[in-house]
Amino acid sequence: MKKIFLFGNWKMNNGLEETKIFFKDLTAQICEDAVICDQLERSFLEVCIFPPFTSLYVGAEILAQNVKKGIFLGGQNGFYEDKGAFTGEISLPMLKETGCSHVLIGHSERRHIMGETDDLIHKKLQAALHHGLTPVLCFGETLSERESDLTFEVIERQILKAVNGLTKEEIKKTIWAYEPVWAIGTGRTASPENAEEACSYARTLLCNYGNIDIEGEGHRDVHILYGGSVKAANVASLLEEPDIDGALIGGASITADSMLEIIHES
Ligand code: PEP
Repeated sequence: MKKIFLFGNWKMNNGLEETKIFFKDLTAQICEDAVICDQLERSFLEVCIFPPFTSLYVGAEILAQNVKKGIFLGGQNGFYEDKGAFTGEISLPMLKETGCSHVLIGHSERRHIMGETDDLIHKKLQAALHHGLTPVLCFGETLSERESDLTFEVIERQILKAVNGLTKEEIKKTIWAYEPVWAIGTGRTASPENAEEACSYARTLLCNYGNIDIEGEGHRDVHILYGGSVKAANVASLLEEPDIDGALIGGASITADSMLEIIHES
């Protein structure tokens, strides 16, 4: 049985009140389903929510009061320096202090709207590992890159720049998320076959780099998610693919009801 990861990226949504309601509802309802509760307890399922920075603390407080194994909190971004003159940035130790165990790195909105480079993303990845946070490293091609047959070239460049210098254990500790830019927030999901092809390619690159036997059991410790318009109606078919270990969910993770629906369908 493969471990499933269901991660919710709220982007710039949900203020304090909505965050309170979300975490109260999520924690209250999640274990009404004995199967899901058991999967969380036995680490066959991992749920992580990535609220905006200002909503993290309130989420952490509710999670601490309603401890449920297997539900985590993550930051949507984090800077590689610990402190200093970096106006507008949040450090990784600050995320940890606020109750985060995970951090998104290189989300396509950071790459393409904020102009984050492969170099910057690599520094953030190294810093997250250094601070003991679980990095969720996002990669994926734009529509024009796909249409120009550059999908695999882009995946290879982004992964090899990110993974440079990482040990085998660090590759396994990082969670990798294939997020084709054309599928994010567009309602246009990659077909399970297209998503599998990209995730399988990424797994091969990572296993080759880390000297991990792709035929052996070790490759199962390299975790690769798919993200891009995932919802309750399509999550199960994506998770059936052998190289897709979970989903990074944006729009459909914003309310507890819709996130719970995805959890139930997985
Ligand atoms: C995301 O924000 O990472 C994402 C995949 O968004 P959506 O599910 O809305 O496409």
